[in-house]
Amino acid sequence: MIIVLKQQISEKHKEAIRSFLVEKGYTVKEIIGQEETIFGAVGQSTIDIREVQMLEGVASVVPISKPYKLASRELKKEDTIVTVGNVKIGGNRIAIMAGPCAVESREQIMTIAASVREAGAVILRGGAFKPRTSPYAFQGLGEEGLKYLKEAGQAYGMPVTTEIVNPSDAPMMTKYIDMFQIGARNMQNFELLKAVGKTGMPVLLKRGLCATIEEWLMAAEYLMASGTDQVVLCERGIRTYERATRNTLDVSAIPVVQKMTHLPVIGDPSHATGMRDMVSPMSLALIASGASGLIVEVHNNPEKAFSDGPQSLYPSQFEKLMRDLQALSAVVGKSLERIPRLQASSLPDAQVAVSASSDLIVAFQGERGAYSELAIRRAFDETTQVLPCPSFSSVFDAVMQGKAAYGMIPVENTLGGTLYENLDLLDRHPAIQVVGEQQIRIIHNLIALPGAKKEEIREIYSHPQGLAQCAQFLQNEMAHAQAIPFFDTAGAVGHIKQVGDTTKAAIAGVPAAKVHGMEILQEGIESNSRNYTRFYIICREERSAVYRSSVAVNRASLNFTVPDRPGSLFEALLVLTKHGLNMKKLESRPIPGKPWEYSFFVETELGDAGAFETALEELKALCHSIRVLGTFTANH
Ligand code: PEP
Ligand code: MN
Repeated sequence: MIIVLKQQISEKHKEAIRSFLVEKGYTVKEIIGQEETIFGAVGQSTIDIREVQMLEGVASVVPISKPYKLASRELKKEDTIVTVGNVKIGGNRIAIMAGPCAVESREQIMTIAASVREAGAVILRGGAFKPRTSPYAFQGLGEEGLKYLKEAGQAYGMPVTTEIVNPSDAPMMTKYIDMFQIGARNMQNFELLKAVGKTGMPVLLKRGLCATIEEWLMAAEYLMASGTDQVVLCERGIRTYERATRNTLDVSAIPVVQKMTHLPVIGDPSHATGMRDMVSPMSLALIASGASGLIVEVHNNPEKAFSDGPQSLYPSQFEKLMRDLQALSAVVGKSLERIPRLQASSLPDAQVAVSASSDLIVAFQGERGAYSELAIRRAFDETTQVLPCPSFSSVFDAVMQGKAAYGMIPVENTLGGTLYENLDLLDRHPAIQVVGEQQIRIIHNLIALPGAKKEEIREIYSHPQGLAQCAQFLQNEMAHAQAIPFFDTAGAVGHIKQVGDTTKAAIAGVPAAKVHGMEILQEGIESNSRNYTRFYIICREERSAVYRSSVAVNRASLNFTVPDRPGSLFEALLVLTKHGLNMKKLESRPIPGKPWEYSFFVETELGDAGAFETALEELKALCHSIRVLGTFTANH
C-alpha cells in the first residue's frame, strides 16, 4: 500500500508510522517525490487500511492494485534513475552499453573496450559465464574473464556489466563488476534473483524468451523485494512463430512498460534480431520508441567470435550507429549519456573555496521548470538542487558569492542566435570560468489548467521568443486567442496557475507544466523543430580545475582584443589555422567605455596535444589582451 504523508509531518510521527507497519510485518520504503513524501509498504500480511489511515501524520492510504508493488508507477510516479559507476540510466538520457557477447581473452576485451569507448559507449559488456543452448558450446572464461573485464573497464573508465548464472557466484562477482545482468533464460530463476537482489547492486534484467510483461515486472519485484532498487529492464526479443529473425523484438513493450513501472527500460537489438544488418535499424526503433538506452554486441573480429558473431557489429558499424543515435537523441528530446559524467556532489569539497552547503546547488535564470533547469538536470543530476535567479547577472552573483557552486547560462540558440548578455557577463567576471556545455532541444507546448479546452483559450502567454517560435501554430490553430508577451516561459505557466482561469494558456516546456501541476493541451507546437539552445556551465576559477579533472576537454572559449591596424584580427586567426585549430564560433562585441572598439569572442577546438597551448603563447604576443574564458567538452 501507499501511505501519503502530510506535508508538515514531524519526524516523531513518521517514525511511529514506520514502526507500526514494521511490527505488522511490512517492509517500508520512504520515497521523497517532488510533490509529496510517501511510504511504500509491502509484505505478506494484510491489515485493514483504516488502521493506517487513522495514524497521526497520514494524509491518505492507497492500496497498490498491481501484483508488482515496488516496481509499479502507482508507488513511485517519478522515473527512477539507476546509477552504475559514474553513469546514469533513465530520465532524459540515453545510455549505450556495448562490448562482445563473451570475454574471450584479455587482448580481445581490451581492444573492443577501446573502440566502443571511443565511439561513445558508456558501459562495457562481456559475458564470462555463458548460458549456451548446447553444452558443447563455449561456456565462458569464468572468473578469469571477470578479471579481464574489470581491467578493461578501468583502463577505459567504463563501468562493466556481465551475466550471472549461479546464485552462489554473486558475492565473488561483486568484486569485479558494476552491474549484474540476469539473462533471458534466467529471468524466472527466483533463487538467482534473490541472491542478486541481496547484493544491492544495479541489475540489468533481460525479459525472458516467453515472458509476458507482467511476469517480467514480477521478476523485477523479486530483485527489489530482496534489496536493490537499481533495476534496469531490457527488452531483448521474445519467442514467436516467426523464424526469420532469432527472436521477435517487441518494440511496443517499451512504451507499455514505461506506463507500468518507474524503472528505466532499454533494448537489446543484437539478441532480438540475431543478425548484424538489423541491429542498427532496430536500435533506432528502440530509441524512437522511448528506450533509455541499448545494449549492443560489438566484436573486432566477428567471423572468429566464440559466440554470437553473426549479430555482432563491426566497430565501424557501431561508430556509425552512435552518430545516428546522436542525431536521433535530439529528436526525442534526450541526450546521449557521456562519461565521465559530472556530478556536483562528487567533486571534492576540500579543494574548493566555496561553502559546502552550495556544493550541490546550480543557479539559473528564470523560474522553476525553465529550459535552463532542464539543462541542469541533463548535465548534472535529477536530484541536484537548483537556485532560480531573476536575471543572468544574478546567476553570476550567486556563483561569485558562493550561494551556488555552478551556473547554467544560455549562450546560443539555433534560431535566435547568440545571447550577447551572457558573453558580456563572462567578460566582466574574470574570476569565473566556463567548464562545460549542455545542449537541449527546445520543445514548446501549449499549457493550461487541468480541464481547459484548446478552443476555449482566449489568451496565450509566453516569452516573446516562445511566441515567435510558435507563430505558425498560433496563426493556424489559435487564431481565436491573443498572444501576450511575458518575461519568462515557465513564469507564464505560474501566472496562469495563479489566476486560475481556464481561458488562459501559456507556451513553455514540459517541466514547467509538471512543476505547476498543469495540463499539456498540445505538445511540440514550435514552427521549426530544429530548435536547440546551448548553455555554458560556469563556476568560480578555483573550482574549475577540479571539475575539469573529471572530463576530457576538447574546446576553448577565448576573448581577445587586437591592435587597431590592418590585418590584426586576420593575423590572430591565422595562428589558429597554423596550429590546426578548428574555429567553431566568432563574435565581436563593443568594449564598454571605448566607443567603436571591439573585443572578439572565439570558440576553438583544441587540436592535437599541445597545439592549443602553443597557439595561445603566439596569440598573447599578437593581441592587446587575451583571456581564456574556459576549456570544456563540446559535443558538436
Ligand atoms: C547476452 O547478453 O549475451 C545474452 C545471452 O542475452 P540473453 O540473455 O538476452 O539471451
Ligand atoms: Mn550474446
